[in-house]
Amino acid sequence: MYLKREDLIHPVVSGNKFRKLKYNILNAKSLSKTTLLTFGGAYSNHIAATAYAGNKSGFNTIGIIRGDELEDKVVSNPTLKFAKSMGMRLEFIDRGTYRMKYNADFIEKLKASYGDFYLIPEGGTNTLAVKGCEEIITNDDKKFNYICCCVGTGGTIAGIINSSKSHQKIIGFPALKGDFLRQDILKFATNDNWDLIRDYNFGGYGKIKPELISFINEFKAKYMIPLDPIYTGKMMYGLIDMIGKGYFPRESKLLAIHTGGLQGISGMNFVLKRKNLPLINI
Ligand SMILES: *Cc1c(COP(=O)(O)O)cnc(C)c1O
Repeated sequence: MYLKREDLIHPVVSGNKFRKLKYNILNAKSLSKTTLLTFGGAYSNHIAATAYAGNKSGFNTIGIIRGDELEDKVVSNPTLKFAKSMGMRLEFIDRGTYRMKYNADFIEKLKASYGDFYLIPEGGTNTLAVKGCEEIITNDDKKFNYICCCVGTGGTIAGIINSSKSHQKIIGFPALKGDFLRQDILKFATNDNWDLIRDYNFGGYGKIKPELISFINEFKAKYMIPLDPIYTGKMMYGLIDMIGKGYFPRESKLLAIHTGGLQGISGMNFVLKRKNLPLINI
């Protein structure tokens, strides 16, 4: 098994979030937009990445954050604090309104309040994001039989599927519960050589168990590679478990994609500390 270290692209705009923003930022520039607006939760890697990349590319950024209770918690939330320090304007909305975020009426209201903007969806997934993720896999990777990656909104795996070869099988590890993902991936994917393994979400998005924390800490001690608790830790836990159970035929060559997300560790540690659980070693 090989690990592609997309987490090393950048300390903040790491991994797939860099890939997903690349062509969107170029597009926003060519449309002469001056503001990027996007959506995300309290510990979102995408919010952190958009705040940073927007700042460095000369855009104003607006982050619409899920949960109006978070408004006075910005200083104690590492992701939001970072986004703010990059100049992102944070707007907190209640969860009900957040669910309606792509409603034409709601978007019009946002335009009335903030002026014109380039909209990037939650998690960054759109056609241009998938195009960026197609660049994760190169010709050098054709020797692998399996390519494994984490799945949130499905944009990253769609890009990987599109640039894979027909002899390769793409295996996605959803970080959240739910059956909707297949449809989301099918919107963008052009091949059917893929599957989702749903056994390693540890109870759902952002959910964590002590055995996942010890796995992440042991993995880091053994291989000196950090994993994040939301995505890559769960995938790697699953992969090693599946290898042990004989899921992959002998002589298989696996390529796992480290999609980054390491900025989320301090946010998770904040939560773990409050619950009196062991922390993830940084
Ligand atoms: C956002 C994210 C994902 C999920 O990517 P999608 O394109 O939304 O499926 C996977 N890994 C990491 C580290 C992420 O930050």
